Amino acid sequence: MNLFSRTFLVGLLSVILVLGLAGCGTGTSGNSGAGGEKITIGTDTSFVPFEYLNQETGEYEGFDIDLVKALMEEVGLDYELKPMDFNALIPSLQSGDIDMAIAGMTIKESRKEVVDFTRPYYDAGLLILVRQDTTDINGVDDLKGKVIATKQGTTSFDFAKSIEGTKKVVPFPNIDQAYLELEKGGADAVLFDSPNVLYYANNKGKDSVKVVGDLLQGQQYGIAFPKGSELRDRVDEALGKLMENGTYDELYKKWFGEKPGN
Ligand code: GLN
Repeated sequence: MNLFSRTFLVGLLSVILVLGLAGCGTGTSGNSGAGGEKITIGTDTSFVPFEYLNQETGEYEGFDIDLVKALMEEVGLDYELKPMDFNALIPSLQSGDIDMAIAGMTIKESRKEVVDFTRPYYDAGLLILVRQDTTDINGVDDLKGKVIATKQGTTSFDFAKSIEGTKKVVPFPNIDQAYLELEKGGADAVLFDSPNVLYYANNKGKDSVKVVGDLLQGQQYGIAFPKGSELRDRVDEALGKLMENGTYDELYKKWFGEKPGN
C-alpha cells in the first residue's frame, strides 16, 4: 500500500468513525448509553385529559403524553406512541408488541399478576354522572334498577358489575360512546374515572349532565411494563426524579390546575 492510499484509508476511517458517533446521538437527549434505541409505548385512543387526539394538529396531547416526553428525555430513549383500545394494552405488553403502556391505568392486584407497574403517579377514584334533570340518583345506593354505561375492560366496569340490583351494565370500547348513551337517554348513569368524568361535566356536558355522590373506590394510576422488564426500573427511577425536581408538579398544574397535595 503506497503512502497515498494509506493516508486516504486513514482519512476514510476517521470520517466513518465521526459519522458513526454522530449517528449515535440522534433521537436521544444526549444521555450516555442510550445508543439511539427506540421503544414503542402503548396508550389509550382517548382518556381526556391524559391522552387524546387533537383534531386540529393530528397530535396526541395530555398529561400522560407530556409525562412520557419528560420521562423519555430523562432515561435518554427515543420512542413511538401506539394508540389502541384500552382493552388491548395488557395483551400487547404480554405479547411484546409494546415496551410500555401509559393510559391512566389503575394499579390493581389482578393486573400486577400479569404486568409490572411503576410507583403510582396519579390519585383518582370513580364518579357517577347523570343527566341534569335526574332527581332520583344521588349516590351509588340509588343505582339499583338503573342502566349504567361505562368503558369495557376498566375498573369502572368491574365496580359497576359488583353493585347489586342494577338493571344492566353496558360496556363501551370508548367512554365517549357511554356519555352519548347517557345524553340520549339509553342509560341512567355513567360510572367512570373521576378526572375524565369531571372533564366531561365541565366541558362538553356542562349544560346537560351533573356529577352526583362521593368519590368511589380510591385508585392510583401506574405505568405498565411486560413482566420482568428492566425498563420498568429505569422509568420508575426517572419518575421519582421528576417528582422531586418540580417537573411533575408543573405538568400536574398544566393539566389539572392545582398541585398535588403531597
Ligand atoms: N383507570 C381505569 C382503569 O385502569 C381506566 C383507564 C382508561 O380508560 N384509560 O381501568
